[in-house]
Amino acid sequence: MNKIDDNLTKVTARIAQAALAAGREPQSVQLIAVSKTQPPSALQAAYAWGQRRFGENYLQEALDKQVSLSHLADIEWHFIGPIQSNKTRPIAEHFAWVHSIDREKIAQRLNEQRPAHLPPLQLCIQVNIDDETTKSGVTLTELPDLVAAILPLSRLQLRGLMAIPAASNNPEQQRSAFAKLRRAMEQIQATGVTLDTLSMGMSGDMDAAIVEGATFVRVGTDIFGARH
Ligand SMILES: *Cc1c(COP(=O)(O)O)cnc(C)c1O
Repeated sequence: MNKIDDNLTKVTARIAQAALAAGREPQSVQLIAVSKTQPPSALQAAYAWGQRRFGENYLQEALDKQVSLSHLADIEWHFIGPIQSNKTRPIAEHFAWVHSIDREKIAQRLNEQRPAHLPPLQLCIQVNIDDETTKSGVTLTELPDLVAAILPLSRLQLRGLMAIPAASNNPEQQRSAFAKLRRAMEQIQATGVTLDTLSMGMSGDMDAAIVEGATFVRVGTDIFGARH
């Protein structure tokens, strides 16, 4: 077994264990392999193991890898990085999911630019759960208006919320940030909006995220090793 195989097996077991401990079905938590800065050969190795969902942060790097890996037609590409408004078209054309929506303008452009032959672009709104001024994402106060603005856009399907909480080694602190995101989703659901996705949890905090209801965990380091 190569290292990436071994890591994927371990991460998948860890997801299953955290899910079962929380009384959840292991299949209710899906793994996104975050492959930013990794070469196409690393994604190819993960694919050969059976991984199909990949998350990328940098648009040009992602597009280059998509060309290199175009023979692997069933990869599901997730865009998880900050989005510049002049770069929306390739995102609308080349990804299945976007997790990092935090402005109405970006959503409108993606809606206009999503090709008709593709299914609606699947979206999560990124929430700045700790109100860190340096981080992207809407505040909890701004969230309802952005939800309302996105719902009528027919080429987009709003699925849920995403967050990157402040890094912490304390499991209680990790859980409390993820619980905030879960409660924010529950509040939107209570208004009659159907949402089914919580994109939260990375290598250092995925276990806490799963306890609080993560449906996607986005894992890079624990699969591919430290980034250079
Ligand atoms: C890099 C990144 C991850 C993965 O982080 P690791 O700590 O390497 O698992 C997850 N989500 C986002 C948005 C990222 O940028």
